[in-house]
Amino acid sequence: MKNVVVLGSTGSIGTSTIKVAEDLPDWVNLVGLAAGGNSELLMEQTLKFQPEAIGIRDSKTAVDMQDALGTKVQVHSGDEGLVKLATLESADIVLIAIVGTGGLQPALAAIRAGKDIAVASKEILVMAGETVMSEARKYGVRVLAVDSEHSAIFQCLDGKPNDSIRNIWLTASGGPFRDAEKWPKDCFPEITVEKALKHPSWEMGRKITIDSSTLFNKGLEMIEARWLFDIEMDRVQVVVHPQSVIHSMVEYVDGSFISQLSTPDMCLPIQYALTYPERAPSQRVATNFAELGKLTFEQPDTERFPALGLARDAGTRGGTLPAVMNAANEIAVDAFCDRKIRYDQITATVAQTMARHDLVEHPELDQILDADTWAREEANRIVSTEA
Ligand code: MG
Repeated sequence: MKNVVVLGSTGSIGTSTIKVAEDLPDWVNLVGLAAGGNSELLMEQTLKFQPEAIGIRDSKTAVDMQDALGTKVQVHSGDEGLVKLATLESADIVLIAIVGTGGLQPALAAIRAGKDIAVASKEILVMAGETVMSEARKYGVRVLAVDSEHSAIFQCLDGKPNDSIRNIWLTASGGPFRDAEKWPKDCFPEITVEKALKHPSWEMGRKITIDSSTLFNKGLEMIEARWLFDIEMDRVQVVVHPQSVIHSMVEYVDGSFISQLSTPDMCLPIQYALTYPERAPSQRVATNFAELGKLTFEQPDTERFPALGLARDAGTRGGTLPAVMNAANEIAVDAFCDRKIRYDQITATVAQTMARHDLVEHPELDQILDADTWAREEANRIVSTEA
């Protein structure tokens, strides 16, 4: 039985984690839950699972919730509350599924308190992969991936040494605009928010769905993989696989490929992270290969999707550049969703922001956060001149 804290329990990954906890009552014990704004769902989850402590962003809402719950659950608020939950005495593992950069401080706090972390928030490793992984080594804790691709690679690697790997292959669904005949580059300026929000394989939050359509999601995953598996960027490859059944692959030096497969369901990688190193029986995911029929593969189109090249550049040059790419992309996606910029301007905004950045090598955490702030301001400037 693992005592689990979930930061971001009402989001897309959070609600899937709740399903896993329902499936596996003998394996997963929820001791802490935190949400951003959805206090109603957090209350429902709290009454159902009776965690020791919960957190909600707004301090007044926290007071109201504490009044309603009485003394049996401790209610925290704000960023401080997230750190309190991340360091909860009884917790074995902290799953971090907060959108944006808010997960970084609680992740480091959890590591320094000796907790394993399960990472669903890509920003943590993209922005501060070097720091997070070195702190995890120092405190002897595990950093487990919740992303389906990284969970797959972790399962395929199974502890094999780094020098036995030729390449890591991240699979990409290709997003809704994969088909170059239907979506040629010159029609990208006309792509609407509604169209970009229709993902072919996965149901996810708004930000990650847009990122999947631009392939920035894959770009962020390339950088995550680089840190999680301590492998140089030029051994991290991407192949388009529209069925999303092969979740990723490892190519070994002898030419063998090992991959992990199932029909797409986020509950599976979440469950694996929470029960690792064991495998818990569950009927939730069933894969019928005869019904699937065929699995297909394509070269990613880096011309229509420049995000892959930008991410490779950011991951290779490192320092503060990945944080800048991530922050500029967040601003650009918001601006697109608010209909301030066109679809093709998302990647253009990120590219311009990256080009204007003075990179800091081996940055400290405050330098990373400064670069993040700078990139947001710069991207906002670019967006407002374009709009
Ligand atoms: Mg993924």
